[in-house]
Amino acid sequence: MATAAISPDILAKYEPVIGLEVHVQLLTATKIFCGCANRFGAEPNTNVCAVCLGLPGALPVLNEKAVELAALAALALNCEVRERSIFARKNYFYPDLPKGYQISQYDKPIAEHGWIDVPTEDGSMKRIGITRLHMEEDAGKSLHEGFANSATRTYLDLNRCGTPLIEIVSEPDIRTSDEAFEYLTRLKEILLYTGVSDCNMEEGSLRCDANVSVRLKGAERFGAKAEVKNVNSFRFIRAALEYEIERQVEVIESGGQVVQETRLYNANEGRTDSMRSKEQAHDYRYFPEPDLPPLLLSQEFLERKRAELPEMPEARRKRMIAEYDLSEQDARTLTASRQFADRFEAAAKTARNPRRVANLLLSEVAGRLKALNLEPEQSPVSMSGIVQAADLLEENKISSRQLKQLFDICFEKGEDFGAVYEREKPQQITDSAAIEKLIDEVITANPGQLEQYRAGKTTIAGFFVGQVMRASKGQANPALLNQLVIKKLGS
Ligand code: ADP
Ligand code: ZN
Ligand code: MG
Repeated sequence: MATAAISPDILAKYEPVIGLEVHVQLLTATKIFCGCANRFGAEPNTNVCAVCLGLPGALPVLNEKAVELAALAALALNCEVRERSIFARKNYFYPDLPKGYQISQYDKPIAEHGWIDVPTEDGSMKRIGITRLHMEEDAGKSLHEGFANSATRTYLDLNRCGTPLIEIVSEPDIRTSDEAFEYLTRLKEILLYTGVSDCNMEEGSLRCDANVSVRLKGAERFGAKAEVKNVNSFRFIRAALEYEIERQVEVIESGGQVVQETRLYNANEGRTDSMRSKEQAHDYRYFPEPDLPPLLLSQEFLERKRAELPEMPEARRKRMIAEYDLSEQDARTLTASRQFADRFEAAAKTARNPRRVANLLLSEVAGRLKALNLEPEQSPVSMSGIVQAADLLEENKISSRQLKQLFDICFEKGEDFGAVYEREKPQQITDSAAIEKLIDEVITANPGQLEQYRAGKTTIAGFFVGQVMRASKGQANPALLNQLVIKKLGS
């Protein structure tokens, strides 16, 4: 924390108020108003045309795909979608905006009144309102470094001009930096599940401005807010908010006033710095875009889009917790991406016991991946390999000890389960007499435990099963072993 420390008591007198504005690039093939490729990383100023450069006489034509993705996102975020929305010109001067205005939406955005539920500190869920979701075009990029004469010059890359964006504006409902973090995490997850954006923050596909003010607890009116820009990870946003909350409390406590302004987050220093006083809406001279007709969406179109929505992450987690007997944390792991959850569920469906597949994936596979610092996609054991292993366990054809050994080999050699199983073909003892002999030995060696069993502590049977399994080097048929141990202990 870079502020002079404020005592927790003083901090606790105040309530932070936070609202987030998130810009998301839509995954279209072409830009929002022209046919230029919508692609990151091309040579500077190669994906440009008269329309996105705003040359005189060029006219915009709305990209239908961008509308479809915006509508999908709006529905996924529980918004009401307007049947008639209006594009508007937002006028300002900036070198990366050759047109001198940005085509956006103003008082009639495509969607309003949505929400996202986020978990709070005490584990309950809290609903964060979404004020509006509107469509707009992106601007270009000023390049301040990377050239021999960057010290004296700024270069422009206009490839990004006209990239389709949606801006999602939250209500000032967020009260802690953790809630802000959760809101962003869930928003991103919903957008990824819906497939409207890749949400890649490094490439700028998802950008967030954080508005924050503080007020004395119990006060009715909001305080003056600062808008923090230029924050490129959710963790930095949390850190920037924490810094900013303390800074504002400090200003007020020392008798000053928070000024409404735009501030920049400096990740290296861990603080925010004043950038400029905040512009007001009227500074932009918004007016309806004369070159575009109103955007009309039929109920039929919206119903079609609604039907396209996948199961949303939160609902999916709830269902999977019940279906596979998972903890909340396990459900989070399995649903971290829609693709992964789809792969898991498609595979689990084919197994004799789907819960076992979940269990193996979360314990044996996840544990080994973590130890090797690998991503799920890099696992040598495929989903069908896990299903095969789960089925063998379910059918008592291998013991869990053998399964662990086979998984060890898979991860050592980078081979899938099927291949390793075929080669190793672990031995299994299914001869009752041989198993009974081992049981007798273990019982003789552990008279104390036998005593306890006879005295009514039947759970201690598990101890005997474990000891015999170990004595058999993991080779005893598990079902037979269980059965024989119970029989022997009872006799
Ligand atoms: P502006 O006109 O400055 O752009 P808006 O009313 O459009 O402000 O709100 C922008 C964002 O700031 C929204 O997410 C909103 O919830 C949030 N916000 C508005 N007022 C406050 C405040 N006093 N403190 C914190 N956040 C606020
Ligand atoms: Zn273009
Ligand atoms: Mg605003």
